[in-house]
Amino acid sequence: MHCPFCRHPDSRVIDSRTSDDGLSIRRRRQCPECGRRFSTTETASLTVIKRSGVVEPFSREKVMSGVRKACQGRPVTEADLAILAQRVEESVRSAGIAQFEANEIGLAILPHLRELDEVAYLRFASVYQAFESLSDFDSAIAELRAHPRTGSMPSIDEPASIQNPQE
Ligand SMILES: [Zn+2]
Repeated sequence: MHCPFCRHPDSRVIDSRTSDDGLSIRRRRQCPECGRRFSTTETASLTVIKRSGVVEPFSREKVMSGVRKACQGRPVTEADLAILAQRVEESVRSAGIAQFEANEIGLAILPHLRELDEVAYLRFASVYQAFESLSDFDSAIAELRAHPRTGSMPSIDEPASIQNPQE
């Protein structure tokens, strides 16, 4: 790993720490040339196979732009979308698989979007679960009514605005 300060081609690891969720390792490094210190974060690479067959790295930004359309006109902020994308990444990483199909990412988005906004959830679900008729919407809505949101999401520091987006 090059030193980001002097471009020296080598660096020494002086400390390694696994993140709380166990999904990444943070290394503290020191450059033997200029002596400056810097950190690197190591995560397993996560790739997505698109319907076209193209493989690309997982991108939170892509998750956000996919969901943003479903959230048009809804009380959902960019910060909400960023948190949602982070949760989606955490849930796909915790599955322990390194490569996903784009459709699986869509399915991983659903439970998190449901927590955020039920109308956006229905819009998004109608695309990803390929709703074909009104009865598909009916059963999705019945499901929403039968299992109201619990608010018991994994503990991530989040702005107060996400707590009750409907109120
Ligand atoms: Zn250096």
